[in-house]
Amino acid sequence: MPRPGHKSKSKRAVYRRVPGGRTSKHYEKKIPGKPQCAKCGAELHGIPKNVKKHCKSEKTVNRPYGGHYCSKCMREKIIDLNTNKP
Ligand SMILES: [Zn+2]
Repeated sequence: MPRPGHKSKSKRAVYRRVPGGRTSKHYEKKIPGKPQCAKCGAELHGIPKNVKKHCKSEKTVNRPYGGHYCSKCMREKIIDLNTNKP
């Protein structure tokens, strides 16, 4: 039974051979992935992997849909929203 601190989605189980020869289950912290565009999946620039350490202005890009869509997809989205008005 893992201890409560290891029963987290941010941890992963790895099996390690210990000096005694047996294999033991260890828990490692997961490395966060690179932030991606929600539409095309391209890597977003200007956004850190570990967002907890930074202040708001360092975590996002200062434009509409910044930090969610890349600049190309944002441009398409805004043009689409403005041309398809009812
Ligand atoms: Zn995109």
